[in-house]
Amino acid sequence: MELTGKISLVSGSSRGIGRAIAIMLAEAGSDIIVNYVSNESAALEVVEQVKKHRRRAIAIQGDVSDRKQVGLMVDQAQKELGPIQILVNNAGITRDRSFLKLSPEQWHEVLITHLDGAFNLTGRLLPGMIESRWGRIINITSIVGQIGNFGQSNYAVAKGGLMAFTKTLAREVAMKGVTVNAVSPGYIETDMTAVVPENVIDIVKQFTPMGRLGKPEEVAIAVRFLADPRASFITGTIINVNGGMYM
Ligand code: NDP
Repeated sequence: MELTGKISLVSGSSRGIGRAIAIMLAEAGSDIIVNYVSNESAALEVVEQVKKHRRRAIAIQGDVSDRKQVGLMVDQAQKELGPIQILVNNAGITRDRSFLKLSPEQWHEVLITHLDGAFNLTGRLLPGMIESRWGRIINITSIVGQIGNFGQSNYAVAKGGLMAFTKTLAREVAMKGVTVNAVSPGYIETDMTAVVPENVIDIVKQFTPMGRLGKPEEVAIAVRFLADPRASFITGTIINVNGGMYM
């Protein structure tokens, strides 16, 4: 129960990887803010899962790319639960098209969800973490930000940018008790990859030494590790969770 007394906000935790992170941080003792954009019933189900671990949890709707909504969400969360010291920037989307077919809207939507999302939430929560001289910021990036991928120029830029943001922010706050790290998953079984054609998944498996996709819980464990107060000398790092696909 290494996170007892801590409050965590996991963006996009109604489904997939964020859901697994929320539940695993609760297992470790943290109270949880479950953020979602449209899927309220899924978010409420995660709240119930967290409560089974006898932790406090609330679900709050808010589009992370919208600065005003993030402000309202954080105000409500901190009023109901208290100061947030662990932030997981997980909310994400894909809008896959090869570059020549990619619309400006598809480019922009992916960038603002991942990058403005992290900017808005981090900007709102970092001052409080610095004031209390303790904080954890964990950004969920992607193998695609490291090696690129056909049809994902927007997503690769967003995730590559998030890794650069992780390292820069880690340097800026290293003396202030806040660590900033990234977890970079390979292909994980969620709604996001459920739409990938079967033949592409077969190719992914061929290029993954473990020969399979990962599970959300296998990503969440890396987040739990980085959130642990004992992980206090780890900052600016990227933990790869990809079955050996990129090493
Ligand atoms: P899912 O599509 O399963 O879930 C996405 C989550 O993000 C949902 O909770 C969704 O809320 C939320 N969300 C989407 N847009 C917003 C927004 N604007 N504001 C707030 N919440 C939002 O995705 P995954 O679990 O697969 O992915 C989670 C993260 O992991 C993403 O950042 C993704 O890029 C990254 N990742 C995923 C990989 C994979 O193979 N699955 C691999 C590498 C990285 P709602 O339910 O309301 O729609």
